[in-house]
Amino acid sequence: MEFVTNSPEETEELGERLGRALSPGDVVAFTGDLGAGKTAFTRGIARGLGIGDRVTSPTFAIVNEYEGGRLPLFHFDMYRLTSSDELFDIGWEDFLRRGGVCAVEWSETVRDALEPDTIYVDIRRGAEDNQRILTLHGPGLDDLGEGDAL
Ligand code: ADP
Ligand code: MG
Repeated sequence: MEFVTNSPEETEELGERLGRALSPGDVVAFTGDLGAGKTAFTRGIARGLGIGDRVTSPTFAIVNEYEGGRLPLFHFDMYRLTSSDELFDIGWEDFLRRGGVCAVEWSETVRDALEPDTIYVDIRRGAEDNQRILTLHGPGLDDLGEGDAL
């Protein structure tokens, strides 16, 4: 399912729509470069889950946890991992079991460890400065409605 957004707010809104549809244990795996909008989208997921805290990039922490919403949100940044072997060190499997939503930036690094029911969100730059092309794959996306327009 493909969407085009023209501002960070629109990307966040799309994330919010996904956030409202997510279930316990769901994993949302992002692909896309620095500045694509992965954190902006995750901010929307948090809003869709009813989390009031502002989501910031977890680059230095690897994972940030947000409680207080419909489901907890675990926001990972795998940029500094060198392979999925290191997932054991950060307790990935425990996070999966905690009944929250895992949003994973730089999932390219750990792709071989992700389950088949992972929801993939790829974000690319479009022709215009603020344009982004978002491609979503995975189960449970029908609730988001049609692609393209928001
Ligand atoms: P990432 O986490 O992928 O590195 P961020 O979400 O932190 O990216 O940053 C995205 C940057 O791109 C922000 O500076 C934001 O203002 C800008 N931007 C411009 N247009 C968009 C858009 N349509 N969607 C998301 N971000 C956008
Ligand atoms: Mg980011």
